[in-house]
This record gives sequence, C-alpha cells and structure tokens, in this order.
Amino acid sequence: MEAAQASLFDEVAADVPVESDASREAQLDAPPTVEIRVSDRRRKTIAAHWEGDRIVVVVPRRLSKADRKIYADELSKKLIASREKQRPTDEALHTRAVHLSRVYLKNQAKPSSVQWSTRQNSRWGSCTSAEGTIRISARLQGAPQYVIDAVLVHELAHLLHSDHSAAFHELANRFPRQRDADLFLRGVSFALNS
Ligand SMILES: [Zn+2]
Repeated sequence: MEAAQASLFDEVAADVPVESDASREAQLDAPPTVEIRVSDRRRKTIAAHWEGDRIVVVVPRRLSKADRKIYADELSKKLIASREKQRPTDEALHTRAVHLSRVYLKNQAKPSSVQWSTRQNSRWGSCTSAEGTIRISARLQGAPQYVIDAVLVHELAHLLHSDHSAAFHELANRFPRQRDADLFLRGVSFALNS
C-alpha cells in the first residue's frame, strides 16, 4: 500500500518536461478585469474589492466617467500590489526546502530550484532528480504549513532516491507529520474528484 499511497502524492520522472516559464508568468501576471459599479447609496466614498479574480470598484453616481476611471485605476493598483505581497513566492518556497533539508535530511538533498507550478493538476509535487528541480502544485498555496512541508520533504527525499523504496520512505518519514499530510491530501483529492 505504500507505493499506492505515494503515487497519489506524485510521480517521479527522470525528465519532466519543463513548462515554459514565460507562459506561466504571463498567466500569473495577466491583469485582472476591473468592473466599475455605480451605487446610488454610496454618496461619498469609493471602495474596491476582489470578487474572485475580478476587481469591483464601487463609485457614487455623481462622479464623472473620467473620474471613475481615475479612481478605479488607482484603487486597482493598490489591491493588486497588496495581493502581490501576499502571494507565496518561489524564493520563499526554495528557502523553506533548504531549511527542511537541513532539519530532516542532514542537508543531503540540495535542490537547484524549487518552484510553485500552476500546471500540476493531478500531482502535488514533482521533481527531476538529475537536475535537482522541485515543483509544488500551486493548489497547495494556503494549505497548512505541515502539508506543504511534507510534500517538500517527499520531493527532497526523491532527490536522493528516485523510487518509492524502503530507503526512500525512511528519509521521507523523518518528517514527523508525513502521515497527517497524506490524510489531508487524500481528503482534498477526494473532494476534488467527487
Ligand atoms: Zn514520490
């Protein structure tokens, strides 16, 4: 059962096709749609908020069209900037992986790059052991830290053992909450697939 359990986690490929970073960036950086909503109730203040991936700016009716556009641009920029700040970065993920390698793997796993991936819809993580690259599904952004850590340690262990052998599990299971993370991810997979 160990192998079946692990395959839910990921698949190890010697040569995972490297996704185009350019298209990934383009996808992430596409500006959101901004909708300007006129409110009769709102007399003075202008407010903006996210509705999913869209920004909605609510303006009082008295405001001219030109002014609405100016305020909408200004408030959208602020909202986008604050979301950028909150977005987990690849750099932070790499730093976390290096930290986990030190704590659990005697710093033997040395990833060359660790990145969030928006292309991984069926796996939580993947690695290319020859190149030392690790990718973690962006769907895990916002998951509890121990879950992200467990997937990172799993992939880090793959840099040392590319299979799901006993030797691999000995390394991966040094992370104490590996099993909790498995249960969490199984629950998420179940919810996504049902
Ligand atoms: Zn694995």
